Amino acid sequence: MDVSNFHPRFTVSPDIALERLIEGNERFLQKQTRMPILQTRLLDEQSGGQQPYATILGCSDSRVPPELIFDAWLGELFVIRVAGNVVGPAIFGTLQYATRYLHTPLYVILGHEGCGAVDAALNYRLEGKHQAEQIQVLLEEIVPSFESLDYEVERDALLACAVEANVKQTVHRLTVSEEGQTQLALGAKLVGAVYDIRTGKVRFL
Ligand SMILES: [Zn+2]
Repeated sequence: MDVSNFHPRFTVSPDIALERLIEGNERFLQKQTRMPILQTRLLDEQSGGQQPYATILGCSDSRVPPELIFDAWLGELFVIRVAGNVVGPAIFGTLQYATRYLHTPLYVILGHEGCGAVDAALNYRLEGKHQAEQIQVLLEEIVPSFESLDYEVERDALLACAVEANVKQTVHRLTVSEEGQTQLALGAKLVGAVYDIRTGKVRFL
């Protein structure tokens, strides 16, 4: 395995990264995880299908894995992750799958403090700073949520408000959608939340 010849931008070689995943899964199988341990009984129970109790739309940020921060096990959460926790066609499709086939009673839009996608959207809104084409698509989804922001506050506070506004925008989009209306009429719950990376606390809005 060649571990020396990789782009200096990468902190580790692709091979080492893959090895970490393989080793991590091995620890999981050997019940030597740093996190939750393998529970064979639960794996058996799940082999017939999934019945997650919540659907989470969160950010791809590596520090915000829903299963860990909610201490949930396999099969408990139906998770969709996309930078900036925005909704696009594929996300709507995945959510509709959750409503039609999994019937999860709860839907959580999970943003997080210090979100890089929201920060980039703010830079775009304030300074017209563009990102690469496909990243820009994400930013265009986020920016409309900034309409009611108070731009007089300092930058960190502004980002915190923007994160919350972005979550609320997604909650609103889903609430007014046909599928959302149907699910809410059935008694399903849709909530926004913001995770604080420093404290580990999830604040439900
Ligand atoms: Zn993020």
